Amino acid sequence: MEQRKKNIAILGCTGSIGLQTLEIIDQYPDQINVEILTANQNKDLLIQQAIKYKPNVVVIGKEEYYTEVNDSLFSYDIKVYAGEASIAQVVEMDSVDIIMNALVGYSGFLPTISAVKKGKLIALANKESLVVGGALIKQLVKEYRSHIIPVDSEHSAIFQCLAGEAHNNIEKIYLTASGGPFRGMDHNSLANVSKEEALKHPNWNMGPKITIDSATLMNKGFEVIEARWLFGLKGDQIEVIIHPQSIIHSIVQFEDGSMKAQMNLPNMKGPIAYALFYPERIKTDLPRLNFLDYPKLTFEIPDLKNFRNLALAYEALESGGNIPCALNAANEIAVDAFLSNRVGFLEMSDIIEKCIHEITFIHQPSLEDLVRTDEEARGRTTKYIRN
Ligand code: MN
Repeated sequence: MEQRKKNIAILGCTGSIGLQTLEIIDQYPDQINVEILTANQNKDLLIQQAIKYKPNVVVIGKEEYYTEVNDSLFSYDIKVYAGEASIAQVVEMDSVDIIMNALVGYSGFLPTISAVKKGKLIALANKESLVVGGALIKQLVKEYRSHIIPVDSEHSAIFQCLAGEAHNNIEKIYLTASGGPFRGMDHNSLANVSKEEALKHPNWNMGPKITIDSATLMNKGFEVIEARWLFGLKGDQIEVIIHPQSIIHSIVQFEDGSMKAQMNLPNMKGPIAYALFYPERIKTDLPRLNFLDYPKLTFEIPDLKNFRNLALAYEALESGGNIPCALNAANEIAVDAFLSNRVGFLEMSDIIEKCIHEITFIHQPSLEDLVRTDEEARGRTTKYIRN
């Protein structure tokens, strides 16, 4: 019997993960149908993609572009909506089988919640969803029988290593990190790095927000929190190890001491394809790893003194409640300020630390509590930057 095509909603279709998702779909057009495309502000590319893939629905985040997008797609029988709230609504459509959440930052959180509450299958590239509300999402996933498949390369690696291991306990996991462009730099040098230098990542080609997060190691901190919720671990079972070659994407250590690692050349299409077709592995034409090109795979301990964001993320995980939500909000404001030359590289950590210490603590935050915490943290952080 022929299987029905899976209908996908791609949230963030004009970003790096969105584009790579469409490139994979291009190779398997009989298996996946593009049902919904959403973009925040890149209206021209969204229009081009809509004309090519003929989705049922498109959403443009920025409402002022609605008329232009709608007019451009007038003759194509495509429904056009605008605004962030519409993104969270369209994922609830019955016609959607799988959602690729490739939104950036907090904007991915409410769409994840909506999708989970409809029991959908979610390919999650938006790690901030689990940073902001991991406990709540985990509880809702259970209640509504939703499924989350990680797209983050480290978590995809762990997920792949856990195939067939459902009844075996994890002793610990090692999340690998490239260390970013400033690995090995001392405090004084870090104080003076520019945004241009921070935007040059040695191994991965990504959007600006995650590239800065990789340079500060906040990205790895978020991944520790993400792993805590995806795999049901405690903070002390999650270790970060610097691995500059980015060949081993992460490692699981089981109770018998045995370790499984997943390796490949760094390319996000691997994790994206794994999530879209799970549990099957599809044939891809991605470049194959030649061991002889990497005669040395090296490992180092992360420098938590100079890259304090990683230590702050462990602290936020330990504090629990709404603190990781505040951590994320403060980080978004700090990264924005760094990208507009209003704060230095190291000041980002000072601002974030002050915010997570001063935010009103809520032990078991509801959805409304998390929305309010995000607002409060943004307000506080913005004030610290002005003063
Ligand atoms: Mn990652």
